[in-house]
Amino acid sequence: MGIHNSDDISAAAFVIKNPTIKFTKLFINGEFVDSISGKTFETKDPRTGDVITRVAEGDKEDVDLAVKAARQSFDHGPWPRLPGSARGRIMMKFADLVEENVEELAALETLDAGKLFSVNKARDIPHAASSLRYYAGAADKIHGEVLKMSRELHGYTLQEPIGVVGQIIPWNYPSVMFFLKVSPALAAGCTMIIKPAEQTPLTALYYAHLAKLAGIPDGVLNVVTGLGSNAGAAISSHMDIDAVSFTGSTEVGRKILQAAATSNLKVVSLELGGKSPLIIFEDADVDIAADLALFGALYNKGEICVASSRVYVQEGIYDEFVKKLVKKAKAWVVGDPFDPKVQQGPQVDKMQHEKVLSYIEHGKREGATLLTGGRSLGEKGYFIEPTIFSDVNEEMLIAKDEIFGPVMALAKFKTIEEAIKRANNTRYGLAAGIVTKDLNVANTVSRSIRAGTIWINCYFAFDNDIPFGGYKMSGFGKDYGLEALHKYLQVKSVVTPLYNTPWL
Ligand code: NAD
Repeated sequence: MGIHNSDDISAAAFVIKNPTIKFTKLFINGEFVDSISGKTFETKDPRTGDVITRVAEGDKEDVDLAVKAARQSFDHGPWPRLPGSARGRIMMKFADLVEENVEELAALETLDAGKLFSVNKARDIPHAASSLRYYAGAADKIHGEVLKMSRELHGYTLQEPIGVVGQIIPWNYPSVMFFLKVSPALAAGCTMIIKPAEQTPLTALYYAHLAKLAGIPDGVLNVVTGLGSNAGAAISSHMDIDAVSFTGSTEVGRKILQAAATSNLKVVSLELGGKSPLIIFEDADVDIAADLALFGALYNKGEICVASSRVYVQEGIYDEFVKKLVKKAKAWVVGDPFDPKVQQGPQVDKMQHEKVLSYIEHGKREGATLLTGGRSLGEKGYFIEPTIFSDVNEEMLIAKDEIFGPVMALAKFKTIEEAIKRANNTRYGLAAGIVTKDLNVANTVSRSIRAGTIWINCYFAFDNDIPFGGYKMSGFGKDYGLEALHKYLQVKSVVTPLYNTPWL
């Protein structure tokens, strides 16, 4: 059942699944433990705002304990010393366990994050398992190079695990993000401390339990739940963490970089925010283009770093496109994310709900035309109508800032040069989409846009082997692909004389 007004929302709320909450404590050195302070924090159901449960609130002392366990395990434990194939076998078992528990994990993720149950079950959780398998397969293919230096000297490189890794992830893709970070680090032979977002801690703790069942040795994978300003800051400034991999906002990314710079100069990689353009040329099939634009902007309730939140449409098809787009947006189904007919669940929390609504008010004040949506839905929970603004220019806040909600900024363009210029008029550079049948246009634009991923006649086409990461203020370093594996490795050069004769 779709939801477009408050009466409908209360009706849909009857469709409730209640997975048992089994894990609420920190996972350190292979055990679930309370935080040292004994503090806990609430995690809430975004459909209602009700508390689901309380979860251990780790802070600096708990991070210290987790780092000690990870350090001990890295310096003296089996994980970095196992042959890659042995690590790979354990990771494959971990992947099997994730798949065996897909229903329960999908339900937990829906409860905690308001994400669609059907998508969690069919895509996100299986994708998490496939990420483990992809890197499991790579674990025994890590190797250095033989380098011929001269007739007397022989040189070669080793690819060594970088050490103890800190990983900090956001709430919009709790499972996918968890494995984007953990899988390559495990394959590389690192040990780690991962901190899920405070809004969505539940699946990460479940994965810790599965890691133990799979045979990942104690201390290799530690999960510290807690607040960003506290546990997160303790990770990024820790003197005994060798690298930190962060996904989240550009604002917090800057803090991570500063903390690394003023502590031990740990290696940093940042996957940050975006304001991605989708450019639709007038030779496109208008119906398909409208579907793609809507999907790009509204998928996962717009809570996706690569959302096509700016859509540029060439003037020849603009009017027809707008008509179709608005009709489709009005038919887009908002409601209980457990309901298989629903296309959009609630925003993750009250703060995010208020933030999105305040951007919508900005858009109206700035003079953009509200074509559809714009309101909160229901008396409970954090639902928002799919919202489309037209007549947007790049000076407006709704075109500049990442809103991270179901809000599209639409604009008309005349020439390919104008489209490129406007698409690049942003501080971000995460992704872009191009819709055209003309190869000249597709390839000219794809090479002219400064963004880390370009989708031509598709959107959100991710796969394990395609590196993903930002240009400009969307960050640096890649997730996915073998590039991500190399983030957790470092190169050591070894040089030796070929013969016993002294080399001086
Ligand atoms: P956020 O930056 O507020 O939080 C992300 C994580 O950082 C959370 O775990 C949080 O607890 C932690 N954190 C907060 N303050 C911290 C601090 N001072 N030190 C260390 N850690 C801290 O982001 P969010 O609101 O959870 O997620 C939304 C953002 O994430 C958006 O900007 C979105 O674009 C971005 N994102 C990017 C990608 C990508 O791959 N580029 C993917 C998903 C989300």
